[in-house]
Amino acid sequence: MSTTNNWTPGSWQQKVVLQQPNYLDGDQLQNALQRLAKLPPLVTSWEIESLKNQIGDAAEGKAFLLQAGDCSESLDDCDNDSIVRNLKVLMQMSFVLIYGGMKKVVRVGRVAGQYAKPRSNDTETRDGVTLEVYRGDLVNRSAFTESDRKPDPELLLRGYERAALTLNFIRALCAGGFADLHHPENWSLDFASDTVQADKYSRMVDSITDALKFMEVVRGAEFRASGSVDVFTSHEGLHLNYEQAQTRRVPRREGWYNMSTHFPWIGYRTRDVNGAHVEYFRGISNPIGIKVGPKFEPDELVNLIQSLNPDDERGRITLIHRYGVDEVANRLPVILKAVTDAGLRVLHTCDPMHGNTFSTNSGIKTRSFDKIAEEVQQQFRIHREHGTILGGVHLEMTGDNVTECIGGQSQIGEPDLVKAYKSAVDPRLNYDQAMELAFLIADQLKA
Ligand code: PEP
Ligand code: MN
Repeated sequence: MSTTNNWTPGSWQQKVVLQQPNYLDGDQLQNALQRLAKLPPLVTSWEIESLKNQIGDAAEGKAFLLQAGDCSESLDDCDNDSIVRNLKVLMQMSFVLIYGGMKKVVRVGRVAGQYAKPRSNDTETRDGVTLEVYRGDLVNRSAFTESDRKPDPELLLRGYERAALTLNFIRALCAGGFADLHHPENWSLDFASDTVQADKYSRMVDSITDALKFMEVVRGAEFRASGSVDVFTSHEGLHLNYEQAQTRRVPRREGWYNMSTHFPWIGYRTRDVNGAHVEYFRGISNPIGIKVGPKFEPDELVNLIQSLNPDDERGRITLIHRYGVDEVANRLPVILKAVTDAGLRVLHTCDPMHGNTFSTNSGIKTRSFDKIAEEVQQQFRIHREHGTILGGVHLEMTGDNVTECIGGQSQIGEPDLVKAYKSAVDPRLNYDQAMELAFLIADQLKA
């Protein structure tokens, strides 16, 4: 990026900053940030630029972006099984999507750093007791006690370390045979053999493997190059002190990079063009996502994209549309028109999760698979009608056999939610639901 006037990694501090924790001990915070700033980067500028290029491909319809993972990673779940299970589902889904779209799939986890959460309220009250709200494991802990909820600067280091451990394991798996597209049997899940979608998936694997060989013959090196797999990382760029501490210059390159992740995104609640988050994001060279929801006005979005990408750089901006089934038909068309009329180059992706969250009568936060599926289908239809390209999806899912979202062919009902509800924030699709959705998206890509 060339035009970053008056920007420094800390210039956001001059702006109004939302959604930050209130640390009681400023010296302790500064001490943690100084230590964080000395630690090595988690990712490289080559990887970041490669992802940007692949996002550019997806915007042009030559690839499809699959961005998925936990709503909120937990430090305690940084273990062998959780990482492998989530990676396996990501691989299986991507395999189904390659088959559907017959194009390269760019895999991006909400992983290795998705530890900070925006919240609707600063506090939470239970049985007359009011405490700080849980803001993700980078900030405090979810248990409802005063000490757990107190923001702790040391957690910034614990989060960075867990992100490094997670990424290290993902890289090692991907460098070995695990991620070879020719051996999808490596991605089978122990519990999955008697689930509805696993059966369908295993029946498809043979024909998909044949299709892959066919593609390699037809497309040659271009397709073969994607045969061994990359997995990129992403998280919401919310905790600006944390992001700043990992923002670096790189030898022989212009500009600054956020080295804590390949692909940070701006959350729906921190999108103000005059606010601190947008100030921070305008100066980094990473590709960036913007969550776009029902309250985004078309002019506001155009203005925001122009501030973040004044040179209309290819691959720089991904719009993550998340309206909810009730709003999508009203909102997406006007947004698409405004962005197209302004001649802006962006990748459009669909997040069918965040506009479709509701609480059951007993107060459990959930989402219905049917609504999620319907929003995906509507977004595909609206893009077709507008001659634009839906080039990716953004999902909250897990390889764990949880019961957090209702519906789907495995027929999880409201009474089942208590059986295996593990998410500390938003409800995720489980293996079966994620695979069912992948098949449905594959059908749309074929259409
Ligand atoms: C999220 O992606 O977990 C999230 C909080 O999303 P949004 O900013 O779209 O509400
Ligand atoms: Mn979420």
